[in-house]
Amino acid sequence: MTRSVLRYVNHRIFRDPATKPNAAAHCLHKECDWAATPGPDVAEVDRQCMTHTGLNADHTLFLRGFWDIARVQRVGSPGR
Ligand SMILES: [Zn+2]
Repeated sequence: MTRSVLRYVNHRIFRDPATKPNAAAHCLHKECDWAATPGPDVAEVDRQCMTHTGLNADHTLFLRGFWDIARVQRVGSPGR
């Protein structure tokens, strides 16, 4: 007979406080390789996209990305 002991440990995930999130955008108009300057301010990236469309009226689709560095930590354990 085999016995198992199950132990559950709670975890949480959060943005690493020593890092900043980043946003980026690339124009999807064919043969256009314009990209916004990536940065932590999503509104600034959006403004860059709108300026690009203002200068190129048919460039209206953008691939936007947002990423950050996440840290997983056991709940109740001291931070590392
Ligand atoms: Zn474009």
